[in-house]
Amino acid sequence: MTKKEEEAVILSTRIVLPFSYSAGHTASRFFIELRDNKRIMGTKCPKCGLVLMPPRRYCGKCLTETDEWVEVGDKGTLVAYTILHRSSPNLPKKPPFAYGIIKLDGADTNLVHILGEVDLDKIKPGMRMQAVFKDQREGNILDIDYFKPI
Ligand SMILES: [Zn+2]
Repeated sequence: MTKKEEEAVILSTRIVLPFSYSAGHTASRFFIELRDNKRIMGTKCPKCGLVLMPPRRYCGKCLTETDEWVEVGDKGTLVAYTILHRSSPNLPKKPPFAYGIIKLDGADTNLVHILGEVDLDKIKPGMRMQAVFKDQREGNILDIDYFKPI
């Protein structure tokens, strides 16, 4: 056997693998509030007072278990953004579109979400944004369709 016959060819590809998982106690309540009440909820740390949104069961700053739910605003400030130009099977919108990092009023942490009704050439950090909810909501983060400038 020659060296050439022993050589294995390695091909790289991608697979799409649909799956389901339990969102858990904290995320389930967050998604149910989005779906049923169009309310964006966070959790407040009883030790350091940090308002975590998306909500977390444990504070990322001091590791204390959170036990208080607070409603944060549906408006906030754009912290940063990126524009997607290339398509991918798992994207929620057809490119080009923008993802933004948004600090909602009343929250101490940021949310990553889609930006809509916006001129991609005119997006700037510091812009005020507002959540736009879908009419038909299913109990997931895409119940917020996108954030638009206000
Ligand atoms: Zn804390």
